[in-house]
This record gives sequence, C-alpha cells and structure tokens, in this order.
Amino acid sequence: MTTSPLPAWYQQGCGHIWLPYSQMQTASPPLAAVRTQGSRITLADGRELVDGVAAWWTACHGYNHPHIREVATAQLATMPHVMFGGMVHEPALTLAQRLCARLPGDLERVFFSDSGSVAVEVAMKMAIQYRLNKGETGRTRMLAFKGGYHGDTLGTMAICDPEEGMHHLYGSALARQVIAPLPQDEASSREFHALLERHAHELAAILVEPLVQGAGGMLFHAPEVLRILRAAADRYDILLIVDEIFTGFGRTGTFFACEQAGIVPDIVALSKALTGGTMALAATIARRHVFEAFLSDNPEHALMHGPTFMANPLACACANASLDLFESQPRLQQVAAINAVLTEQLEPCRSLPGVVDVRTLGAIGVVEMQAITDPEALRQRFIAQGVWIRPFRNIIYLTPAFTISEAELHKLTGAIRTVLGG
Ligand SMILES: *Cc1c(COP(=O)(O)O)cnc(C)c1O
Repeated sequence: MTTSPLPAWYQQGCGHIWLPYSQMQTASPPLAAVRTQGSRITLADGRELVDGVAAWWTACHGYNHPHIREVATAQLATMPHVMFGGMVHEPALTLAQRLCARLPGDLERVFFSDSGSVAVEVAMKMAIQYRLNKGETGRTRMLAFKGGYHGDTLGTMAICDPEEGMHHLYGSALARQVIAPLPQDEASSREFHALLERHAHELAAILVEPLVQGAGGMLFHAPEVLRILRAAADRYDILLIVDEIFTGFGRTGTFFACEQAGIVPDIVALSKALTGGTMALAATIARRHVFEAFLSDNPEHALMHGPTFMANPLACACANASLDLFESQPRLQQVAAINAVLTEQLEPCRSLPGVVDVRTLGAIGVVEMQAITDPEALRQRFIAQGVWIRPFRNIIYLTPAFTISEAELHKLTGAIRTVLGG
C-alpha cells in the first residue's frame, strides 16, 4: 500500500507548532486538513472525515456556507478592519441591534471582543466595576459551579471546576473564587444556599453555563436550576452572568438556552457559533441597569477594556450572515430532527461495556463511559471509521452542524456503536 507523502508545509512546520491540551512528546501527529465543506473535512492524503464536533461547536451551518462566504467576500473588499475606539461601523451596529432583539428582557448593550474567555473576563470586570461604581468596595469575588468551564485565561480558570477542570495545576496562581454545587437536589441546594449566606457580602456575580456544562463534561441540568439561581441572585442583590458561549445559537433546541427557563440574566456571554464558525468573535451583553451604573461624570467609572480587534467588521459581517441563516432556514427544526436521531441511535450504547450513561439535548449527544483509559487510541479508531470525534475525559460526544445529512449523522452514531462494541 502506498501512502501519499505529507505536504512540505506539514513536514517543515510541524516542528514549530505548539498544540492545545496536548502532551507533545507522546501525542500522535496531528492530521493535515486541507479543505472543509458541509460536514466534511478533507485531509492532505485524500481521506475525508465526517465532522462530529463542528470545529469545537462553532460551525452550526456546516463549513463554507455560500451565504456567509458571499457576505464575507463583500466585507473583505470594502473594510476588513477598522479600530472601534471612537468609531463605529454598520456590521457591528447591525449585529448589536439584532443580538439584543433576540435576547430576552432589557439585555441591550453589547461589548464586542474576540474570544469566549475574554467575553467572560469582560463580564466579570463589568460585575466588579458595577459594585465599585456604586461605591461598594468589598464585592469583587465570583460564585461559579462545580463542573463548570468558562475559559482558559488566568481570570476564567479561577471560575472553572477546581478539581475536575484542566486547570488545577495552576491552583496557587489563580484568584480564589467561591465554587458551589449546582442546586439540583436537596443536599446541593442546602450547600449552595449556605455558601451564599456566608459569601454574599463579598460576591459581585454568580456565573453559570445554562442547561449544559460543556467542556466540564457535557453535564445537563433542568431549567428550574436557572430559576433558582435567578431568585438567589435577586434575593442577595448579586448579578447573574449566563455563559451561553456553548449553548447559544440553537445548540440546546432553543435559540438561547436561558429561554427554556424564562429568566433574564444581568449579563450574557456569547461566542463559539456567533459567526457560524468562520471568524473569531465574542460578545458580552449587559442589561440596562448594569450599563447605567457606568454612566457618571467620573471618567474612572468608564468600563476599562478594549481589545485591539474588537468588533472586527469582517467577523461582525459573518455573524450577521449567520443570523440571516437562522432567520431564513429551519435551524431549530433541524436541531429537533438531529435530537431524534441522536436519541434513537445512541440509546443502544447503554448496553455496551463500560457505558454508564447516554443523554441528548438539542443537537448534543453524549455517551458517558466509566473511564476512557486511552483517549488517543480511541481517537485513532474513530479516524479509521472515517469520522472526526474527540472524546475527552470520560465522555464521547457529538455536536454536529445543524445542516448535517441524516446519512452523515448515522455514520457518526454508527462509528460510536462500532468502536464501543468491538
Ligand atoms: C469555549 C467556551 C469558553 C471559552 O471560549 P474561548 O473562545 O475558547 O476562549 C467559555 N465558556 C464556555 C461555556 C465555552 O464553551
């Protein structure tokens, strides 16, 4: 058997690249991707993989959607970028207005940035300065949840799950935040409320991923939990920050996950599928009362943050094009149809060796294992099946594009059943 030689750029560049979450000494060499289309990734050697991950949950319309490409091409020709300090442009203002129209309540002020972690950092800075601007100096800490994930920067690592998270190694370098169990049953509710009683006087905000804790292990909770958090935040006068970076844009079956609980957060963070998986962009959206706490004749009451590539016009144009597709295409029906297939096709995994749970929500399908001892080997077996599935920790999951074909979806679920069964 002949294998086509790896391209020169791969051979010459691989020794100079540092990959994420990867033990570079032992990890198998990365794949060389050369083209994407729909739910397919083409490799340099000609192999084609069906993508079960949608580029880390971002490519909700599939790759290379012609509408996004068209809008991006036009924007590229007129104004790929301009600074956002003291200057605004149509793509950003249109996008801000459209996002606010979609969000519940008076979430009406958008601060743009370029990654999810930074959007969460900005939300935390807003919450801290909200108190400072009101003359309260002692309320700078955050309450976040076990199983949670909010990013990889030093500020956001401190609000990730301290034990399960990949960040425990940095322990002593991180701010000490309050980490509570999600109030889901009697015992966890008691602990949550006890922690609040003890810490409310020093808390600026409660942060939560609504309905699904994604990178923490695809853990689901009921909408009721969000209503409990909203009520607790109101009772203790703490801001509620909802991190919809993974769940936003239809992934859980509604446009935003918080809709399912009927709550209005004080601040929302968005990124991942915001541009349909094409450009790096994030947004932090605040309610009116949050924004108003920054209005004063004191210059120090202004929000002191400003990423260089903030509100990049090309990225904003792509996000507007993505919203066009949510308006013109039956995306939420597609999510419901994907859920039906995932539920039916993954359910048989329950009886396979080592499987402890199978669960689905919207376009998310999860097979939870007792343990995955050799994730690297498992990944290779999926690649051999012609699918791109990235197990992490003890879970194997699918988060496909909403435009995936039924045959492609069956290929993904079939690969999981084959690999786990044999
Ligand atoms: C991915 C993710 C982040 C971090 O986003 P980056 O763009 O990787 O910085 C934050 N919160 C949630 C819920 C995420 O899924």
